[in-house]
Amino acid sequence: MEKVLIIGAGPAGYTAAIYAARANLTPLVIAGPLPGGQLMLTSDVENYPGFIDPIPGPELMEAMRQQSERIGAAYNYAQVTEVDLSKPPFKVWTDSDEMIESQTVIVCTGASSRMLDLPGEKELVGRGISTCAVCDGFFYKGKDVLVVGGGDSALEEASYLAKIANTVTLIHRREKFRGSKVMQDRVLSFKNVAVIWNTAIDEILTLPDGKLNGVILKDLGNGRKSEKSCDGVFVAIGHIPGTELFKKWLDLDEEGYIKVQNGTRTNIPGVFAAGDCVDRVYRQAVTAAGMGCMAALDCERYLSFI
Ligand code: NAP
Repeated sequence: MEKVLIIGAGPAGYTAAIYAARANLTPLVIAGPLPGGQLMLTSDVENYPGFIDPIPGPELMEAMRQQSERIGAAYNYAQVTEVDLSKPPFKVWTDSDEMIESQTVIVCTGASSRMLDLPGEKELVGRGISTCAVCDGFFYKGKDVLVVGGGDSALEEASYLAKIANTVTLIHRREKFRGSKVMQDRVLSFKNVAVIWNTAIDEILTLPDGKLNGVILKDLGNGRKSEKSCDGVFVAIGHIPGTELFKKWLDLDEEGYIKVQNGTRTNIPGVFAAGDCVDRVYRQAVTAAGMGCMAALDCERYLSFI
């Protein structure tokens, strides 16, 4: 029987593990086969306090993991397949056929990229369609790429790609960016970046060998369609919280984010949630880490009263 089971290993999960371990609660983190969360796809993190120079996302995550292990957190790299939060002890099953019981659970399952949901899109991920310029940008050196979206992610992807690709065309469904002014200014300062406003991708075009070679764009004002050739499409239209496993048990908002109150408490006493699976607004490594800390402190308080 665990005292504290943490599901997910991004900044929230690692920080919850550090605080729970420091409180002598010997937490077990179910990290999944690819721990680290979205920061594993980030090259340079410049805004995490405490580092004078930019630190690569994977390095920051590895440091957090090692820090928590040194203090006493344990790790299990299986995937959670099912949970039963009906009453304590809470039960969690993994794809290694284990059942783990715990007095408390901290959900830190993060979020993943939202996709366009167009025919052929899934098959082309990694072969023309990407959600990560830092990971895949190199393959588009000197090529023509599109970036879909109008938030900070799309602007950041476009700025990164502008230094590698021949041309970058931002496709945005409205006539105004959602992203910050500073990011807008940065991306528009590149001579090889153009924006097509009020437009959506209607269709993905492929060559007979299955490779992407363009898209059909639809002007959302007049409905007119046009063909645009390109070598790659980077989709940056937001995220979907990783809460599917919990929807039977936890109160979620209309977009699937876990609802919390009084800090990180969910609707089930003894179950806490932190990071991008809760936070649809800030979504920063530092805010996720802060919530992970809060969840561990809330959890410790809960355990001291039962
Ligand atoms: P976001 O702010 O929610 O923006 C998503 C963008 O995609 C919006 O422009 C939205 O259009 C568009 N969109 C959504 N669904 C679409 C669809 N089906 N088809 C076409 N377009 C669609 O998400 P984000 O850019 O990932 O940013 C998330 C949070 O992380 C924000 O708080 C952001 O500030 C933060 N962030 C910060 C940085 C940084 O500071 N360096 C970098 C990345 C992200 P509408 O505008 O019409 O809704």
